[in-house]
Formats: sequence, structure tokens, C-alpha cells
Amino acid sequence: MWTKKIQKELVHLQKDSQMRQLKQTKDATEKQITINGQRMLNLASNNYLGLANHPHIKQASMETIEQYGVGATASRLIVGNHPVYDEAENALLTWKRAEAGLIVNSGYTANVGIISSLVGRHDLVFSDQLNHASIIDGIILSRAKHKRYRHNNMDHLEAMLKKAPKHKRKLIVTDTVFSMDGDVSPLHDLVTLKKQYNALLMVDEAHGTGVFGPNGEGYSYDQNVQQHIDLHMGTFSKALGCFGAYVIGEQPLIDYLTNKMRSFIFTTGLPPALLGAIQTAILVVQMEERRRLRLHQLAEQFRTLLQDYGFFTYNSETQIVPIRIGTNEDALQFSERLQAKGIAAIAIRPPTVREGDARIRFTVTANHTESELIQAATIIAAVGKELGVIS
Ligand code: PMP
Repeated sequence: MWTKKIQKELVHLQKDSQMRQLKQTKDATEKQITINGQRMLNLASNNYLGLANHPHIKQASMETIEQYGVGATASRLIVGNHPVYDEAENALLTWKRAEAGLIVNSGYTANVGIISSLVGRHDLVFSDQLNHASIIDGIILSRAKHKRYRHNNMDHLEAMLKKAPKHKRKLIVTDTVFSMDGDVSPLHDLVTLKKQYNALLMVDEAHGTGVFGPNGEGYSYDQNVQQHIDLHMGTFSKALGCFGAYVIGEQPLIDYLTNKMRSFIFTTGLPPALLGAIQTAILVVQMEERRRLRLHQLAEQFRTLLQDYGFFTYNSETQIVPIRIGTNEDALQFSERLQAKGIAAIAIRPPTVREGDARIRFTVTANHTESELIQAATIIAAVGKELGVIS
């Protein structure tokens, strides 16, 4: 009976062009990627600054493995808190000018753990409609009341805050850079509202870390509102080219999370080699500003090119540049044709985005060249015309 049900689900997924399959991706840290044996330009990675293959970061990782071995051997609170954790956390706090912080295993487990330990069934969480899945899962696990406000719509958020009982604990949570639209959140307004309604504000800087801010600290630093945000989480898995995540805030909050966050307590610590890589990546991000400047310049050029061809790029103003396609089938066909012409970009379909709003998501990195992106845009436009997305 179970197998029948599962098979039926799979048939549905296939019919709706929603079936996902693993493909072998070789050289994914490079700007040229090999997918199922075919070489193409990589416009699909989150390696925004091109650090995943940085020689100093790789070297640091290898040296740490030599010194501390491969695995952490236990959770951090047991015996898995090897010395490189301290070093990496100190580098993190200096970089972010933060009081306290914790390095945790991944962005996904950070969001799930932070939210579910901070709020409970009697509390309210106000969450942007386009927030990442890990935030949504954290809210579900917390059993708090989930109040989704329309994307970046501060009037809607305020109306909800107004209606909420005064005595209830309130958490507002938002991505700073939205992963599927490439737009940014109105942080100044969020800070005003959080103060006015006595709520806690948490931001997810997964796509802002390394990319924005005077030293790549994140989008909230670019906006100079970092000191008004109660909890910052971000990842080392995107612009920093590594893996793992962090949360920073005031000492009591971090102490609380250290004691309550189940996805931190009940899991093995990160491999030491990764901490070595993270610590060096934090330094490289600050020293190699040219990567960040180059990324912004290339992203701007690429987005303008696509817009000039007639594509709708949503409200993108970052290195994430989506184009609207519409149906799942068209989006899939679009990405398949792009791949056949040597461009790796993925079709984003529901449930990641709304039904009927399937898109192709391009991500620019500092390693691309102008001519590669101009050539890519020409190919994207040709496919767009073939499929009637642009005229
Ligand atoms: N938050 C956002 C906004 C993300 O885009 C992602 C990754 N897709 C995560 C959290 C999860 O991060 P990680 O990949 O490190 O688990």
C-alpha cells in the first residue's frame, strides 16, 4: 500500500514537471562546470566570490586536518569543541564587531534550531512570504503562530503587528537578500517596526554575507542597521566558499542558544578542517575587496543585458538574477536548452516559488568575465525567443 502511494506521488511529480534528479556535477567550484559529462558555463552556483577553490583557504583546511584529524568525534558540548572553533569564532566576532556568536553546522540547521528554541506555542512569528524554507521549517517546529506577511510589504506587517496581543512574544524574521528573487529587505523599516511593537528581529544573511557591507559583513552592515538587529544568522557555504553557518547577537542570547538549540546540541561538531577553512575565508573576504566590487559590477551588467533583451528580472538588485518564465514545463525546457548550448542555470519551480511563477535563476560570480556574460546573455535571449518568453 505504501509503495503504491509513493509511486503515485512520483507519477504526479513527473506529470507536473516537478521531478528532481541528481546529476553528477564535476568542477562545480570553477566557473566552467561539467554536468553529466558536458562542459558548460556555471551560472548556478553560490560561490559568489569564487573562494571555494582559493589556495589559502584550501591550504588552511589541509593544515588543520593534519593537526586535528578528520572528524570532530563528538558534539561541541561533549568533546568536539576543538581549538580551531575558538579561533574561527574570534575571527567571526572581530569581523562582525559582535558581542557574541556561535558557529553551527549549516544554515538550514541554524534557522531550524534558532527559531524553534526562541519561540514556542504561545508566541508569534512574523515572517516574509519569500523567506527561505529553513525559516519556515523552524517556525513549524516551534509551534508558534506563523504570521506570513506579503513580500517586503511593511504595511501588511504593521497591520498584523497591530492586531497581535501586546503581552505575546513576537519575532520578526527576514532574509536580507532573497534567494529566489535577488531583491533585498527594507531593513530600516523593519527596525522601526520591531522597536515600535517590541518584537525581536532576526535576519538571515545567507546571501548577503561576504557580498555586502564595507568589509563583506552582510547587507545589514551595508545599511548600517546591524546594531539594531537582535540576531544575525548567515552561512559560510555561499560567498565564503566553505560550509557551515553562524549566529551572532548579545551574550545572553548566544548563551541561551548554546543551551537550548537542539540542532546545535544534538549533532556532531563540524570537521576541524572546515573551521580552518572558515577562519581563513573570513580573513580573505576582508582583504580581497576587489572580488566584491567586481561581483557587483558584473551582476549589474548582466542584469541590464537581460532586461534590454526584454526579460523580467523581478526586483533583483544583487548577484542573484532570475528571469520570469511561467509554467514548470517551460522553465524546465528553458534550462535544458540552455544546458544544451553550454550554460548551466537551474529552473526554479514550486514549491520553491509560487505556482505559475517558475523561473530561471542565474547567479553571477566574481570569477566570470564580461565577455562570458555577454555571450551567455546572447544565448539566453536566443532561447527566450525560441520559447516565446521574449519577442
Ligand atoms: N537561508 C537561506 C536564505 C538560504 O538560501 C540557504 C541555502 N539555500 C540557507 C539558509 C541554508 O544554508 P545552508 O546551505 O548552509 O544549509
